[in-house]
Amino acid sequence: MATSPSRSAAIYPGSFDPLTNGHIDIIKRGVATFDRVIVAVANNPQKSPLFTVPERIALARKCLGDNERVEIDTFDGLIVEYAQKKGVHVLLRGLRAVSDFEYEFQLASMNRKLAKDVETVFMMTSEESFYLSSRLVREVASFGGNVSEMVPAPVYDALTQRFHKKKAKPS
Ligand code: ADP
Repeated sequence: MATSPSRSAAIYPGSFDPLTNGHIDIIKRGVATFDRVIVAVANNPQKSPLFTVPERIALARKCLGDNERVEIDTFDGLIVEYAQKKGVHVLLRGLRAVSDFEYEFQLASMNRKLAKDVETVFMMTSEESFYLSSRLVREVASFGGNVSEMVPAPVYDALTQRFHKKKAKPS
């Protein structure tokens, strides 16, 4: 069967607020599976994020910038429209516990309904990352818990700065 070059790229969309070692694991395995991985930071105005989109992009570049097969980008609106605009047919998603499954199943089904040519590919979390989520990392870091083994060093520094500054502010 003929292979088209665009099939060898995958878009990994998410909030990445912040990027965790769980995300890094999926990206590394994505690069081992596809020629190119586009990490697409969602610009969702309905969410109030800890880090702005430009901050999240800058952090992702710091953590992944030395890999020429990883592109960092942002998108707003429908991910399938973004994928079509980029000429990429694969969306990469990670699955942790069963609790991820229902949402991811709905999302993938909706995306298939919207665009038949865009396929969602899932990777199971690795053993050491199954408990990791951006939300929990945010929460633990906000209470001063040590998240240094859960996130890349630049993200750890950014979290420390963010919550240290908040603490330092008089209320
Ligand atoms: P989160 O769900 O942690 O807030 P995102 O919305 O940025 O993070 O997630 C983007 C994608 O990465 C989703 O498919 C999500 O299931 C996946 N993901 C997040 N954390 C992990 C992890 N620890 N292991 C595997 N996949 C993950």
